[in-house]
Amino acid sequence: MSSNPVHDPLAPPVPDAHTEVKSTTCYMCACRCGIKVHLRNGEVRYIEGNPDHPLNKGVICAKGGSGIMKQYSPARLTKPLKRKEGTERGANQYEAISWDEAFGILEKRLSHLRATDPRKFALFTGRDQMQALTGLFARQFGTPNYAAHGGFCSVNMAAGMIYTIGGSFWEFGGPDLERAKLFFMIGTAEDHHSNPLKSAIGEFKRQGGRFVAINPVRSGYAAIADEWIPIKPGTDGALILAIIREIIALGLYDREFLARYTNAGQLVNQDPDSKDFGMMVRHPEGEKFNPLRPHNFYWWDRHSNQPVDDHVDGADPALFGSFTMPDGTPVKPSFQLLKERVAECTPEWAENITGIPAATIKRIAHEMGVTARDEKIELPIPWTDFWGKEHEKVTGNPVAFHAMRGLAAHSNGFHSIRALAILMSLLGTIDRPGGFRHKAPYPRAIPPNARPPKGPEGVQPNTPLNGAPLGWVENPDDLFVDAGGQPVRLDKGFSWEHPFSAHGLMHNAITNAWRGDPYPIDTLLLFMANMAWNSSMNTSEVRKMLTDKGTDGGYKIPFIVVCDAFQSETTAFADLILPDTTYLERHDCMSMLDRPISEYDGPVDSVRIPVLDPKGECKPFQEVLVELASRLKFPAFTTADGQRKFKSYPDFVINYETAPGSGIGFLTGWRGENGDQAMRGAPNPRQWEAYEKHGCFHHYHLAPSMQYMRNWNKEYLEWSQQAGMRRDNDPIIIHLYSEIMQSFRLAAQGKRPGKQPPAQLRERVAQYFDPLPFWHAPLEDAQSDLVKYPLNALTQRPMAMYHSWDSQNAWLRQIHAYNYLYVNSDTARAAGIEDGGWMWVESQWGKVRCQCRYSEAVEPGTVWTWNAVGKSSGAWNLTGDANEAQQGFLLNHLISEELRADAHGKRYSNSDPITGQAAWYDVRVRIYPAKGDEPQHSYPQFETMQPVPGMEPRKMAWLGWFAGKKGDKQ
Ligand code: SF4
Repeated sequence: MSSNPVHDPLAPPVPDAHTEVKSTTCYMCACRCGIKVHLRNGEVRYIEGNPDHPLNKGVICAKGGSGIMKQYSPARLTKPLKRKEGTERGANQYEAISWDEAFGILEKRLSHLRATDPRKFALFTGRDQMQALTGLFARQFGTPNYAAHGGFCSVNMAAGMIYTIGGSFWEFGGPDLERAKLFFMIGTAEDHHSNPLKSAIGEFKRQGGRFVAINPVRSGYAAIADEWIPIKPGTDGALILAIIREIIALGLYDREFLARYTNAGQLVNQDPDSKDFGMMVRHPEGEKFNPLRPHNFYWWDRHSNQPVDDHVDGADPALFGSFTMPDGTPVKPSFQLLKERVAECTPEWAENITGIPAATIKRIAHEMGVTARDEKIELPIPWTDFWGKEHEKVTGNPVAFHAMRGLAAHSNGFHSIRALAILMSLLGTIDRPGGFRHKAPYPRAIPPNARPPKGPEGVQPNTPLNGAPLGWVENPDDLFVDAGGQPVRLDKGFSWEHPFSAHGLMHNAITNAWRGDPYPIDTLLLFMANMAWNSSMNTSEVRKMLTDKGTDGGYKIPFIVVCDAFQSETTAFADLILPDTTYLERHDCMSMLDRPISEYDGPVDSVRIPVLDPKGECKPFQEVLVELASRLKFPAFTTADGQRKFKSYPDFVINYETAPGSGIGFLTGWRGENGDQAMRGAPNPRQWEAYEKHGCFHHYHLAPSMQYMRNWNKEYLEWSQQAGMRRDNDPIIIHLYSEIMQSFRLAAQGKRPGKQPPAQLRERVAQYFDPLPFWHAPLEDAQSDLVKYPLNALTQRPMAMYHSWDSQNAWLRQIHAYNYLYVNSDTARAAGIEDGGWMWVESQWGKVRCQCRYSEAVEPGTVWTWNAVGKSSGAWNLTGDANEAQQGFLLNHLISEELRADAHGKRYSNSDPITGQAAWYDVRVRIYPAKGDEPQHSYPQFETMQPVPGMEPRKMAWLGWFAGKKGDKQ
């Protein structure tokens, strides 16, 4: 026998090859793990997790490792394309053009719009990680019509939490599973914070923590939960209110925390005849700390039995009771009002709504309260609070929560999430060990300071927008409406229809543009958003809108530009296609100005640095924006003498400052001319090199005394102001009771001067802008025949694919090539549907044909499927008969982007009336078997898309290609 091994794994596979390893950041999902890309002779051969990276610590998931297949995808676009003269939109007939011609077309069109009516240009982007740049571009253009995907993803989560505790889950905060003892995950399947959360849950379980999943479906993380509590979709708010009631009734709330760090003890005006009814009473001579957001509140002191300034030394606020101010004004502490609000929310009441037995609700409420109270954590970290009180230690109550889209994507999601944030506060878990921890740049003021323009005068030709295109409103006068109270934005964001729409309403942009409501537009630029398929509700109708023509014979949306790295269902509707690069071919930054990758112990930002040259003529969208901004002479991109300021996107990143000399730019690391400053400092011409040398991230470690209680931590508050993360350094008191909401209610009731809602919206605003959370049925329920459509239908993003991006990925397609509708076995049998059988799912809006899969891991009143696995035939350069098109299906055809018309014929978005969050999960359906003689493929089907110029032929033999026989078999 030979002593030589058959295969020596340590030997270089190709001895003469040039190999190298480069660091960058993954973008196979939104999690942004650090990766090391192995190249052989300039080609990607292997991708691994970066063990030194703070986010994933070397862990990589199936998607991340499969990035290589995205690079070599046959769906890659490689040339700028123009729709052929004389062909119709949707027919997918294109001719290749040069970038010069593409820029020429855009420059001419956009400069005309900017000089005449900037509103007519709309920029909507998908899950892009450069909103600081896309938002800046829109603002500099002067258009109000900009948003990213947040409105149809989880804006309720962001807004519900930020308007309550000044921070939110995922990028801006999360559960401290290192120290938690009890962990509740609600409405989350596979999270955005993917690898870090998986690792943390694994460690949490190894340490003996108890994990409870509350979800209609037991999938994803819930599969390893110690207890699964199935719940009916859209009822989470009722459950949480019942738990709050139990916690209060049992006295298991953290009184000390509530009294000092929340507005529980602040006194609320209870005089119904007062114009300030429901607002906090204020002491005119009290300490305001911040004139723009005065803190001159009253407590009712339990020792002296009289009103005193809040936080005055020695005072102890009453949390319950009813009092009278010296001027005769009746008042109550806000916690008393919360107690009254939940008085009727008994576990039995919640059982009827949620389907969760009252005994279970009582048990988990008790478990939360007792764990928080009896298993306290104490860390020997001295710190000082805003009011000057020195604390010898940091205390934690080890009950952690995590929630995402399952709570958010309902028309009642904002209040459910506010209720959750209040529950977390009652348990005393905010920014404390074992509970919820913030991540920089959060916590921020409630609400943060970016404001949209206040009216149509904020939009002027050839002028940047007078305000942030997306932001936060603090009172009705911040709304972006005209004198008649009508929306200024195309998507109606920041109007009386959806006042807190911090992320816009991208899901209504196409419908509104098509209808010309509130006005028609000219050019729609979509970046990385599959709006003709899985990113649209009411997909079949939206596709028709994209090709619909007016009486003049022109398209109702005259010009559509799509920028994407891949051919998709949406590119077929473009008049101009711009080929983007992949994440391995471009510079990028996960900026503190946007959504960084911060850790609990301090700010972290990260970058992508190209490991490959762009394929074909692909150009990063960032470069496209910098080029257009320079050609259109946006002030921020032009020198005082009108010359181009930045030669490229990388040049822009290192030299841009938020204000001249601010020292704050896109990246926080290695600032200053010598690269020796962090957070703030002059631009450093070698900043990219510094990031490259340090693994593509910068981690600023806060001193331990600044890592906790950051809403009220004097040292941290001053540091964060100095670092430019906050304008002010006043404390961020938790809003159990929302005076901000009450100000909108008072306006709707005609009791407040200033902006007023249009008459037909007064009742709606007054109803939903309740200063305390409440549960109401999803809006669509009132318009649905709940007997005919008895089931809820949900979609989830699979762990192995990120939205539609991975349907062209040769490796990941082996995991999911089509999707089933998962139906509880009893429900399916009762409907006469076989396991694996073809069936119909029908809502009041439409129907789809698909295959059934029996499941015990879904509550009987819910059916669900994976989103975006099903494809339109030929899209993503899959063959027309690919499983994705023939067996895969898209549930979005059943979901409407609008509610039915009201009595005035007016249609409102199918969204949360507070935030405009798309109500994906409110749809009601029925199911029945397909007839035996029906075709055995999914419905609806669309004409097969053909490849466009510049796309490579499909590779049919990937294994051969990998073995080095590249190009042998196509
Ligand atoms: S979790 Fe997301 S970012 Fe991390 S490796 Fe997987 S795909 Fe990449």
